[in-house]
Amino acid sequence: MHTWSAGLALVGVLAACAAAQADPVATFQPLSQAQRAAMTGDAWRPECPVPLDDLAAVTVPYVDFEGAERSGTLVIHQRFAGDVAAIFTELHQAAFPIRIISPWENFGDKYAEHDATVGSYCRRAQDAPESWSGHAYGVAIDINPRENPFLDAQLGWWPAGTAPYAPRDGGIGKVAAGSPAFLAFARHGWAWGGFYPGVTDYMHFYKSLVGFTPNPLARAYEAPTLTYIPSR
Ligand SMILES: [Zn+2]
Repeated sequence: MHTWSAGLALVGVLAACAAAQADPVATFQPLSQAQRAAMTGDAWRPECPVPLDDLAAVTVPYVDFEGAERSGTLVIHQRFAGDVAAIFTELHQAAFPIRIISPWENFGDKYAEHDATVGSYCRRAQDAPESWSGHAYGVAIDINPRENPFLDAQLGWWPAGTAPYAPRDGGIGKVAAGSPAFLAFARHGWAWGGFYPGVTDYMHFYKSLVGFTPNPLARAYEAPTLTYIPSR
């Protein structure tokens, strides 16, 4: 059980290296009462597998598709708030463009149509409805969903109309194997859904937790970093 009372140190600001002191960095904190109220009922419900007390709000800087400096909030399991703060600080320093970062409930089921980058939301897995999605555990992030669509085995590329974006041949906001954005996630132990056979999920990154329990948070191992092996 993770509690915030045991984790005041989790309220933090990533240390910026001296050379990057002028750059904004991501910060994280427990969910505010307003955030809890906004999430409750759809983005989160009492039957969801992770309590609101175990989720964190990560406030991250990003560069949007027009090159403007922005700030957005990602909700994620508090165990991985430091990971997410570090990854998005690196994406910002690399000027990786992101359309919009927004808590899921601001767009709800239409988040992908709106191209919103989101973290936690409580849903069954789209391709395995008997299981909770990694998003329901707060261990997954969808990034630029229109530029990085999901291949639904029945319905085709999702969200609708994104088939033209499916090729991984470059383009604003796309993630490809070995790309700088892909490597920023991998450095912190986050794997890519772009390698899922048959149900390619280019928007989806998930914390690599290794074990045999359906609940990823109960597994015995977590990967602090991943090494990409492009020859396989
Ligand atoms: Zn996802």
